[in-house]
Amino acid sequence: LRKPRVVVLGAGYGGLITVTRLQKLIGVNEADITLVNKNDYHYETTWLHEASAGTLHHDKCRYEIKDIIDNSRVNFVKDTVVEIKKDEKKIVLAQGELEYDYLVISLGSNPETFGIKGLKEYAFGITNINSSRQLREHLEYQFATYNTEEHKQEDRLVIVVGGAGFTGIEFLGELANRVPELCREYDIDHKKVRIICVEAAPNALPGFDPELVEYAVNHLQRKGVEFKIGTAIKECTEDGIVVAKDDQMEEIKAGTVVWAAGVRGNSIVEEAGFENMRGRVKVKPDLRVEGHDEVFIIGDCALIINEEINRPFPPTAQIAMQQGETCAKNLAVLVRGQGEMEEFKPDIKGTVASLGESDAVGVVFGKKVVGTKASFMKKMIDNRALFMVGGPSLVLKKGKFKFF
Ligand code: FAD
Ligand code: NAD
Repeated sequence: LRKPRVVVLGAGYGGLITVTRLQKLIGVNEADITLVNKNDYHYETTWLHEASAGTLHHDKCRYEIKDIIDNSRVNFVKDTVVEIKKDEKKIVLAQGELEYDYLVISLGSNPETFGIKGLKEYAFGITNINSSRQLREHLEYQFATYNTEEHKQEDRLVIVVGGAGFTGIEFLGELANRVPELCREYDIDHKKVRIICVEAAPNALPGFDPELVEYAVNHLQRKGVEFKIGTAIKECTEDGIVVAKDDQMEEIKAGTVVWAAGVRGNSIVEEAGFENMRGRVKVKPDLRVEGHDEVFIIGDCALIINEEINRPFPPTAQIAMQQGETCAKNLAVLVRGQGEMEEFKPDIKGTVASLGESDAVGVVFGKKVVGTKASFMKKMIDNRALFMVGGPSLVLKKGKFKFF
Protein backbone atom coordinates (compact mmCIF):
# COMPACT_ATOMS: atom_id res chain seq x y z
CA LEU A 1 0.00 0.00 0.00
CA ARG A 2 1.29 3.44 -0.97
CA LYS A 3 1.88 5.91 1.83
CA PRO A 4 -0.42 8.94 1.80
CA ARG A 5 1.24 12.03 0.30
CA VAL A 6 0.92 15.20 2.33
CA VAL A 7 1.90 18.37 0.50
CA VAL A 8 2.26 21.69 2.33
CA LEU A 9 2.41 24.85 0.20
CA GLY A 10 4.27 27.80 1.74
CA ALA A 11 6.82 27.83 4.57
CA GLY A 12 5.51 30.88 6.40
CA TYR A 13 4.14 30.83 9.94
CA GLY A 14 1.28 28.45 9.18
CA GLY A 15 3.22 26.09 6.91
CA LEU A 16 6.29 25.77 9.11
CA ILE A 17 4.30 25.11 12.27
CA THR A 18 2.28 22.46 10.42
CA VAL A 19 5.38 20.67 9.16
CA THR A 20 7.46 20.89 12.34
CA ARG A 21 4.52 19.49 14.34
CA LEU A 22 3.55 16.84 11.78
CA GLN A 23 7.09 15.46 11.49
CA LYS A 24 6.90 14.67 15.22
CA LEU A 25 3.33 13.39 15.26
CA ILE A 26 3.65 10.73 12.57
CA GLY A 27 6.28 8.14 11.79
CA VAL A 28 8.36 7.93 8.61
CA ASN A 29 6.34 4.97 7.40
CA GLU A 30 2.99 6.62 7.86
CA ALA A 31 3.15 9.39 5.22
CA ASP A 32 5.36 11.23 2.75
CA ILE A 33 5.57 14.88 3.71
CA THR A 34 6.56 17.48 1.11
CA LEU A 35 7.01 21.17 1.83
CA VAL A 36 7.09 23.61 -1.10
CA ASN A 37 8.34 27.17 -0.79
CA LYS A 38 9.43 29.82 -3.26
CA ASN A 39 12.72 30.45 -1.44
CA ASP A 40 15.02 28.20 0.52
CA TYR A 41 14.51 30.55 3.46
CA HIS A 42 11.60 31.47 5.71
CA TYR A 43 11.16 35.15 6.48
CA GLU A 44 9.46 36.75 9.46
CA THR A 45 6.69 38.65 7.70
CA THR A 46 5.98 40.40 11.00
CA TRP A 47 9.44 42.01 10.96
CA LEU A 48 9.40 43.27 7.38
CA HIS A 49 8.59 46.87 8.36
CA GLU A 50 12.02 46.96 10.01
CA ALA A 51 13.86 45.53 6.99
CA SER A 52 11.92 47.93 4.73
CA ALA A 53 12.91 51.02 6.72
CA GLY A 54 16.47 49.77 7.05
CA THR A 55 16.47 49.58 10.84
CA LEU A 56 17.11 45.82 10.80
CA HIS A 57 19.11 43.97 8.17
CA HIS A 58 16.98 41.60 6.09
CA ASP A 59 19.25 38.68 6.95
CA LYS A 60 18.15 39.05 10.56
CA CYS A 61 14.57 38.50 9.39
CA ARG A 62 15.13 35.20 7.61
CA TYR A 63 16.54 31.73 8.18
CA GLU A 64 17.13 28.59 6.15
CA ILE A 65 14.25 26.16 6.02
CA LYS A 66 16.51 23.10 5.95
CA ASP A 67 17.89 24.10 9.37
CA ILE A 68 14.40 23.92 10.88
CA ILE A 69 12.75 20.87 9.40
CA ASP A 70 13.71 17.23 9.92
CA ASN A 71 15.23 16.61 6.50
CA SER A 72 15.03 12.84 6.94
CA ARG A 73 11.25 13.11 7.24
CA VAL A 74 10.29 16.08 5.13
CA ASN A 75 11.07 16.48 1.46
CA PHE A 76 11.70 20.18 0.91
CA VAL A 77 11.10 21.48 -2.61
CA LYS A 78 12.31 24.98 -3.42
CA ASP A 79 9.94 26.02 -6.18
CA THR A 80 7.11 28.40 -6.96
CA VAL A 81 3.53 27.20 -6.92
CA VAL A 82 1.91 28.22 -10.19
CA GLU A 83 -1.45 26.46 -10.03
CA ILE A 84 -3.51 24.24 -7.77
CA LYS A 85 -5.55 21.72 -9.78
CA LYS A 86 -7.87 20.75 -6.97
CA ASP A 87 -10.02 18.33 -8.94
CA GLU A 88 -6.99 16.39 -10.16
CA LYS A 89 -5.20 16.71 -6.80
CA LYS A 90 -2.18 18.13 -8.56
CA ILE A 91 0.10 21.09 -7.97
CA VAL A 92 1.78 22.78 -10.90
CA LEU A 93 5.14 24.23 -9.94
CA ALA A 94 7.38 26.48 -12.03
CA GLN A 95 9.66 23.50 -12.53
CA GLY A 96 7.53 20.43 -12.14
CA GLU A 97 4.39 18.88 -10.78
CA LEU A 98 3.31 17.25 -7.53
CA GLU A 99 0.42 14.99 -6.66
CA TYR A 100 -1.15 14.86 -3.24
CA ASP A 101 -3.58 12.94 -1.10
CA TYR A 102 -3.73 15.70 1.49
CA LEU A 103 -2.97 19.33 0.82
CA VAL A 104 -2.26 22.27 3.11
CA ILE A 105 -2.44 25.71 1.52
CA SER A 106 -0.50 28.26 3.56
CA LEU A 107 0.65 30.67 0.88
CA GLY A 108 0.07 33.89 2.80
CA SER A 109 -1.25 37.08 1.28
CA ASN A 110 -0.85 39.53 -1.58
CA PRO A 111 -1.18 43.31 -1.29
CA GLU A 112 -4.76 44.55 -1.75
CA THR A 113 -4.63 47.43 -4.20
CA PHE A 114 -8.42 47.74 -4.70
CA GLY A 115 -7.70 48.29 -8.38
CA ILE A 116 -6.26 51.76 -7.65
CA LYS A 117 -4.47 53.05 -10.72
CA GLY A 118 -0.68 53.16 -10.68
CA LEU A 119 -0.11 51.38 -7.37
CA LYS A 120 1.31 48.22 -8.91
CA GLU A 121 3.69 50.24 -11.07
CA TYR A 122 4.84 53.02 -8.76
CA ALA A 123 4.26 52.13 -5.11
CA PHE A 124 6.51 50.03 -2.90
CA GLY A 125 5.16 47.22 -0.73
CA ILE A 126 6.12 45.61 2.56
CA THR A 127 5.46 42.10 1.39
CA ASN A 128 8.55 39.91 1.38
CA ILE A 129 12.35 40.09 1.56
CA ASN A 130 12.68 41.26 -2.04
CA SER A 131 10.19 44.10 -1.72
CA SER A 132 11.62 45.19 1.65
CA ARG A 133 15.18 45.23 0.35
CA GLN A 134 14.08 47.23 -2.69
CA LEU A 135 12.22 49.80 -0.58
CA ARG A 136 15.15 50.24 1.81
CA GLU A 137 17.53 50.74 -1.13
CA HIS A 138 15.16 53.16 -2.86
CA LEU A 139 14.87 55.33 0.26
CA GLU A 140 18.62 55.42 0.62
CA TYR A 141 19.01 56.25 -3.07
CA GLN A 142 16.70 59.27 -2.73
CA PHE A 143 18.77 60.63 0.15
CA ALA A 144 22.05 59.88 -1.60
CA THR A 145 20.90 61.58 -4.80
CA TYR A 146 19.49 64.75 -3.24
CA ASN A 147 22.80 66.60 -2.80
CA THR A 148 24.24 65.49 -6.15
CA GLU A 149 21.74 67.54 -8.15
CA GLU A 150 22.28 71.15 -9.10
CA HIS A 151 18.55 71.85 -9.01
CA LYS A 152 17.49 70.20 -5.80
CA GLN A 153 14.30 68.19 -6.10
CA GLU A 154 12.64 68.66 -2.73
CA ASP A 155 10.06 65.97 -3.60
CA ARG A 156 12.76 63.34 -3.38
CA LEU A 157 12.59 63.71 0.36
CA VAL A 158 8.82 63.30 0.58
CA ILE A 159 7.77 59.84 1.70
CA VAL A 160 4.10 58.87 1.57
CA VAL A 161 2.74 55.89 3.48
CA GLY A 162 -0.70 54.73 2.35
CA GLY A 163 -2.74 53.22 5.18
CA ALA A 164 -2.48 53.69 8.94
CA GLY A 165 -3.32 50.08 9.78
CA PHE A 166 -0.86 48.09 11.87
CA THR A 167 1.60 47.68 8.99
CA GLY A 168 1.56 51.40 8.13
CA ILE A 169 1.94 52.48 11.76
CA GLU A 170 4.75 50.01 12.50
CA PHE A 171 6.61 51.07 9.35
CA LEU A 172 6.21 54.76 10.25
CA GLY A 173 7.70 54.02 13.68
CA GLU A 174 10.82 52.58 12.06
CA LEU A 175 10.99 55.26 9.37
CA ALA A 176 10.80 58.07 11.92
CA ASN A 177 13.92 56.60 13.54
CA ARG A 178 15.71 55.88 10.27
CA VAL A 179 15.26 59.33 8.69
CA PRO A 180 17.51 61.20 11.17
CA GLU A 181 20.22 58.60 10.49
CA LEU A 182 19.85 59.07 6.73
CA CYS A 183 19.95 62.86 7.17
CA ARG A 184 23.21 62.61 9.09
CA GLU A 185 24.71 60.18 6.64
CA TYR A 186 23.86 62.26 3.55
CA ASP A 187 24.24 65.79 5.03
CA ILE A 188 20.60 66.72 4.70
CA ASP A 189 18.68 69.11 6.91
CA HIS A 190 16.01 67.06 8.69
CA LYS A 191 13.46 69.83 8.04
CA LYS A 192 13.64 69.10 4.33
CA VAL A 193 12.15 65.63 4.84
CA ARG A 194 8.40 65.06 4.97
CA ILE A 195 6.77 61.81 6.04
CA ILE A 196 3.06 61.83 5.24
CA CYS A 197 0.63 59.09 6.24
CA VAL A 198 -2.63 58.96 4.31
CA GLU A 199 -5.51 57.05 5.91
CA ALA A 200 -8.98 56.72 4.40
CA ALA A 201 -10.82 55.88 7.62
CA PRO A 202 -11.84 58.60 10.13
CA ASN A 203 -8.93 57.59 12.38
CA ALA A 204 -5.65 55.71 12.40
CA LEU A 205 -5.66 52.01 13.41
CA PRO A 206 -9.42 51.69 12.80
CA GLY A 207 -11.11 49.53 15.39
CA PHE A 208 -8.21 49.66 17.88
CA ASP A 209 -8.47 51.12 21.39
CA PRO A 210 -8.87 54.94 20.98
CA GLU A 211 -6.49 55.78 23.82
CA LEU A 212 -3.76 53.63 22.28
CA VAL A 213 -4.41 55.10 18.84
CA GLU A 214 -3.93 58.58 20.29
CA TYR A 215 -0.70 57.51 21.97
CA ALA A 216 0.64 56.06 18.70
CA VAL A 217 -0.37 59.06 16.58
CA ASN A 218 1.07 61.55 19.10
CA HIS A 219 4.31 59.60 19.28
CA LEU A 220 4.69 59.59 15.50
CA GLN A 221 3.68 63.25 15.13
CA ARG A 222 6.33 64.24 17.66
CA LYS A 223 8.83 62.46 15.45
CA GLY A 224 7.70 64.47 12.46
CA VAL A 225 5.04 62.31 10.79
CA GLU A 226 2.12 64.23 9.24
CA PHE A 227 -1.24 62.47 9.20
CA LYS A 228 -3.89 63.00 6.56
CA ILE A 229 -6.86 61.23 8.07
CA GLY A 230 -10.18 60.64 6.33
CA THR A 231 -8.23 60.96 3.09
CA ALA A 232 -8.14 58.22 0.47
CA ILE A 233 -5.42 57.52 -2.05
CA LYS A 234 -7.08 57.53 -5.46
CA GLU A 235 -4.14 57.17 -7.79
CA CYS A 236 -0.41 56.68 -7.74
CA THR A 237 1.79 58.21 -10.42
CA GLU A 238 5.47 58.39 -11.22
CA ASP A 239 5.57 61.70 -9.30
CA GLY A 240 3.48 60.88 -6.26
CA ILE A 241 -0.16 60.34 -5.39
CA VAL A 242 -3.59 61.81 -5.87
CA VAL A 243 -5.78 61.86 -2.77
CA ALA A 244 -9.39 62.78 -2.07
CA LYS A 245 -10.95 64.24 1.05
CA ASP A 246 -14.63 65.21 1.03
CA ASP A 247 -14.62 65.21 -2.79
CA GLN A 248 -11.61 67.55 -2.83
CA MET A 249 -8.78 66.14 -4.90
CA GLU A 250 -5.16 66.94 -4.14
CA GLU A 251 -1.88 65.90 -5.69
CA ILE A 252 1.03 65.15 -3.37
CA LYS A 253 4.39 64.92 -5.04
CA ALA A 254 6.65 62.31 -3.46
CA GLY A 255 9.86 60.46 -4.22
CA THR A 256 8.62 57.39 -2.38
CA VAL A 257 5.13 55.96 -2.04
CA VAL A 258 4.62 52.95 0.20
CA TRP A 259 1.37 51.03 -0.06
CA ALA A 260 0.50 49.46 3.29
CA ALA A 261 -3.26 49.56 3.03
CA GLY A 262 -4.23 45.96 3.39
CA VAL A 263 -3.89 42.43 2.11
CA ARG A 264 -5.91 39.74 0.39
CA GLY A 265 -5.38 35.99 0.21
CA ASN A 266 -2.80 34.67 -2.27
CA SER A 267 -4.18 34.92 -5.82
CA ILE A 268 -3.33 31.24 -6.42
CA VAL A 269 -6.19 30.31 -4.12
CA GLU A 270 -8.67 32.38 -6.12
CA GLU A 271 -7.36 31.03 -9.39
CA ALA A 272 -7.83 27.46 -8.11
CA GLY A 273 -11.56 28.11 -8.09
CA PHE A 274 -12.27 27.88 -4.36
CA GLU A 275 -15.15 30.08 -3.26
CA ASN A 276 -13.46 33.04 -1.61
CA MET A 277 -13.76 36.55 -0.25
CA ARG A 278 -10.81 38.67 -1.35
CA GLY A 279 -8.70 35.55 -1.75
CA ARG A 280 -9.64 34.09 1.62
CA VAL A 281 -11.56 30.82 1.77
CA LYS A 282 -14.05 30.17 4.54
CA VAL A 283 -12.90 26.95 6.17
CA LYS A 284 -14.76 24.45 8.34
CA PRO A 285 -13.93 24.28 12.07
CA ASP A 286 -11.39 21.51 11.33
CA LEU A 287 -9.74 23.91 8.81
CA ARG A 288 -10.75 21.90 5.75
CA VAL A 289 -12.54 23.33 2.73
CA GLU A 290 -16.21 22.55 2.21
CA GLY A 291 -16.49 19.88 -0.48
CA HIS A 292 -12.75 19.12 -0.39
CA ASP A 293 -12.07 16.95 2.63
CA GLU A 294 -8.46 16.51 1.56
CA VAL A 295 -7.64 20.24 1.50
CA PHE A 296 -6.72 22.38 4.51
CA ILE A 297 -6.35 26.14 4.17
CA ILE A 298 -4.64 28.09 6.96
CA GLY A 299 -3.15 31.50 7.66
CA ASP A 300 -3.87 34.54 5.52
CA CYS A 301 -5.58 32.43 2.82
CA ALA A 302 -8.18 31.19 5.30
CA LEU A 303 -11.26 33.00 6.53
CA ILE A 304 -12.66 32.26 9.96
CA ILE A 305 -15.46 34.19 11.60
CA ASN A 306 -15.32 35.77 15.03
CA GLU A 307 -18.80 34.76 16.23
CA GLU A 308 -18.80 37.44 18.94
CA ILE A 309 -18.85 40.27 16.41
CA ASN A 310 -19.89 38.23 13.38
CA ARG A 311 -16.90 39.47 11.37
CA PRO A 312 -13.81 37.69 10.05
CA PHE A 313 -10.77 37.49 12.29
CA PRO A 314 -8.00 39.69 10.86
CA PRO A 315 -5.23 37.74 9.13
CA THR A 316 -2.43 37.46 11.69
CA ALA A 317 0.65 35.37 12.38
CA GLN A 318 -0.79 34.58 15.77
CA ILE A 319 -3.76 32.81 14.18
CA ALA A 320 -1.69 31.26 11.35
CA MET A 321 0.59 29.56 13.90
CA GLN A 322 -2.27 28.29 16.02
CA GLN A 323 -3.96 26.93 12.90
CA GLY A 324 -0.72 25.14 12.02
CA GLU A 325 -0.94 23.22 15.31
CA THR A 326 -4.53 22.12 14.68
CA CYS A 327 -3.81 21.34 11.05
CA ALA A 328 -0.92 19.02 11.96
CA LYS A 329 -3.05 17.15 14.51
CA ASN A 330 -5.89 16.76 12.02
CA LEU A 331 -3.56 15.55 9.28
CA ALA A 332 -2.25 12.90 11.66
CA VAL A 333 -5.82 11.74 12.30
CA LEU A 334 -6.55 11.49 8.57
CA VAL A 335 -3.27 9.74 7.75
CA ARG A 336 -3.87 7.14 10.46
CA GLY A 337 -7.58 6.85 9.83
CA GLN A 338 -8.22 7.01 13.56
CA GLY A 339 -8.79 9.60 16.26
CA GLU A 340 -10.96 12.65 16.36
CA MET A 341 -10.53 15.81 14.32
CA GLU A 342 -9.88 18.91 16.41
CA GLU A 343 -11.93 22.07 15.96
CA PHE A 344 -9.87 25.21 15.63
CA LYS A 345 -10.48 27.87 18.26
CA PRO A 346 -8.27 30.95 18.12
CA ASP A 347 -6.79 31.96 21.44
CA ILE A 348 -6.07 35.66 20.99
CA LYS A 349 -3.50 36.68 23.56
CA GLY A 350 -3.40 40.29 22.45
CA THR A 351 -2.07 42.72 19.88
CA VAL A 352 1.04 44.84 20.18
CA ALA A 353 2.18 47.32 17.54
CA SER A 354 5.74 48.58 17.67
CA LEU A 355 6.52 52.28 17.26
CA GLY A 356 10.20 51.94 16.49
CA GLU A 357 12.96 50.34 18.52
CA SER A 358 11.86 51.27 22.03
CA ASP A 359 8.18 52.21 22.02
CA ALA A 360 4.96 50.36 21.30
CA VAL A 361 1.24 50.18 22.06
CA GLY A 362 -0.85 47.14 22.71
CA VAL A 363 -3.44 45.14 24.53
CA VAL A 364 -2.08 42.01 26.18
CA PHE A 365 -4.36 39.61 28.05
CA GLY A 366 -6.98 42.37 28.06
CA LYS A 367 -4.66 45.00 29.55
CA LYS A 368 -3.40 48.11 27.77
CA VAL A 369 0.34 48.59 27.60
CA VAL A 370 2.45 51.43 26.16
CA GLY A 371 6.05 52.60 26.08
CA THR A 372 9.14 50.54 26.91
CA LYS A 373 7.03 47.90 28.64
CA ALA A 374 4.98 47.36 25.49
CA SER A 375 8.15 47.41 23.39
CA PHE A 376 9.69 44.72 25.61
CA MET A 377 6.55 42.61 25.21
CA LYS A 378 6.63 43.02 21.44
CA LYS A 379 10.19 41.68 21.34
CA MET A 380 9.18 38.78 23.55
CA ILE A 381 6.33 38.02 21.12
CA ASP A 382 8.82 38.13 18.23
CA ASN A 383 11.17 35.79 20.12
CA ARG A 384 8.32 33.47 20.99
CA ALA A 385 7.47 33.03 17.31
CA LEU A 386 11.07 31.93 16.70
CA PHE A 387 10.93 29.60 19.68
CA MET A 388 7.70 27.98 18.48
CA VAL A 389 9.22 27.10 15.12
CA GLY A 390 12.87 26.42 15.89
CA GLY A 391 13.26 26.17 19.66
CA PRO A 392 15.94 27.89 21.77
CA SER A 393 18.70 27.64 19.15
CA LEU A 394 16.70 29.72 16.66
CA VAL A 395 15.97 32.30 19.38
CA LEU A 396 19.68 32.55 20.11
CA LYS A 397 20.48 32.97 16.42
CA LYS A 398 17.79 35.43 15.38
CA GLY A 399 16.19 36.70 18.59
CA LYS A 400 15.79 40.30 19.69
CA PHE A 401 17.69 41.01 22.90
CA LYS A 402 18.27 44.75 22.75
CA PHE A 403 15.48 45.82 25.01
CA PHE A 404 16.11 49.41 26.05
P1 FAD B 1 3.32 33.91 5.48
O1 FAD B 1 3.95 33.83 6.82
O2 FAD B 1 3.33 35.23 4.81
O3 FAD B 1 4.03 32.82 4.55
C1 FAD B 1 3.67 32.56 3.23
C2 FAD B 1 4.80 31.75 2.60
O4 FAD B 1 4.39 31.29 1.32
C3 FAD B 1 6.08 32.56 2.39
O5 FAD B 1 7.19 31.81 2.82
C4 FAD B 1 6.12 32.77 0.88
O6 FAD B 1 7.44 32.86 0.37
C5 FAD B 1 5.43 31.51 0.38
N1 FAD B 1 4.82 31.65 -0.94
C6 FAD B 1 3.97 32.63 -1.35
N2 FAD B 1 3.61 32.42 -2.63
C7 FAD B 1 4.23 31.28 -3.03
C8 FAD B 1 4.23 30.54 -4.25
N3 FAD B 1 3.52 30.92 -5.30
N4 FAD B 1 4.98 29.43 -4.30
C9 FAD B 1 5.72 29.02 -3.24
N5 FAD B 1 5.75 29.68 -2.07
C10 FAD B 1 5.01 30.79 -1.97
N6 FAD B 1 0.64 39.34 12.63
C11 FAD B 1 0.68 39.16 13.97
O7 FAD B 1 0.01 38.26 14.49
N7 FAD B 1 1.48 39.93 14.77
C12 FAD B 1 2.27 40.90 14.26
O8 FAD B 1 2.97 41.58 15.01
C13 FAD B 1 2.25 41.13 12.85
N8 FAD B 1 3.05 42.07 12.30
C14 FAD B 1 3.08 42.23 10.94
C15 FAD B 1 3.95 43.18 10.41
C16 FAD B 1 4.00 43.37 9.04
C17 FAD B 1 4.95 44.39 8.47
C18 FAD B 1 3.15 42.60 8.18
C19 FAD B 1 3.23 42.79 6.69
C20 FAD B 1 2.28 41.66 8.71
C21 FAD B 1 2.23 41.46 10.10
N9 FAD B 1 1.38 40.51 10.68
C22 FAD B 1 1.40 40.31 12.05
C23 FAD B 1 0.53 39.64 9.84
C24 FAD B 1 1.26 38.31 9.60
O9 FAD B 1 2.57 38.56 9.11
C25 FAD B 1 0.53 37.38 8.64
O10 FAD B 1 -0.80 37.23 9.06
C26 FAD B 1 1.23 36.02 8.59
O11 FAD B 1 2.50 36.15 8.01
C27 FAD B 1 0.41 34.99 7.84
O12 FAD B 1 1.07 33.75 7.88
P2 FAD B 1 0.95 32.74 6.66
O13 FAD B 1 1.59 31.47 7.11
O14 FAD B 1 -0.44 32.69 6.17
O15 FAD B 1 1.80 33.41 5.51
P1 NAD C 1 -5.21 46.69 7.39
O1 NAD C 1 -6.28 46.26 6.49
O2 NAD C 1 -5.29 46.32 8.82
O3 NAD C 1 -5.07 48.28 7.33
C1 NAD C 1 -5.08 48.96 6.11
C2 NAD C 1 -5.44 50.43 6.33
O4 NAD C 1 -5.40 51.11 5.08
C3 NAD C 1 -6.83 50.63 6.90
O5 NAD C 1 -6.75 51.49 8.00
C4 NAD C 1 -7.60 51.24 5.73
O6 NAD C 1 -8.61 52.15 6.15
C5 NAD C 1 -6.50 51.97 4.96
N1 NAD C 1 -6.82 52.19 3.55
C6 NAD C 1 -7.43 51.32 2.69
N2 NAD C 1 -7.54 51.88 1.46
C7 NAD C 1 -6.99 53.10 1.53
C8 NAD C 1 -6.81 54.15 0.58
N3 NAD C 1 -7.21 54.04 -0.69
N4 NAD C 1 -6.19 55.29 1.00
C9 NAD C 1 -5.77 55.42 2.28
N5 NAD C 1 -5.94 54.46 3.21
C10 NAD C 1 -6.53 53.32 2.86
O7 NAD C 1 -3.86 46.15 6.73
P2 NAD C 1 -2.39 45.98 7.34
O8 NAD C 1 -2.05 47.10 8.24
O9 NAD C 1 -1.52 45.70 6.18
O10 NAD C 1 -2.50 44.67 8.20
C11 NAD C 1 -2.76 43.40 7.59
C12 NAD C 1 -2.97 42.35 8.64
O11 NAD C 1 -1.76 42.12 9.37
C13 NAD C 1 -4.01 42.77 9.67
O12 NAD C 1 -4.74 41.64 10.02
C14 NAD C 1 -3.19 43.22 10.85
O13 NAD C 1 -3.87 43.01 12.08
C15 NAD C 1 -1.96 42.34 10.74
N6 NAD C 1 -0.81 43.05 11.33
C16 NAD C 1 -0.63 42.97 12.68
C17 NAD C 1 0.41 43.66 13.27
C18 NAD C 1 0.60 43.55 14.77
O14 NAD C 1 -0.12 42.81 15.42
N7 NAD C 1 1.56 44.23 15.34
C19 NAD C 1 1.27 44.42 12.50
C20 NAD C 1 1.06 44.50 11.12
C21 NAD C 1 0.00 43.81 10.55
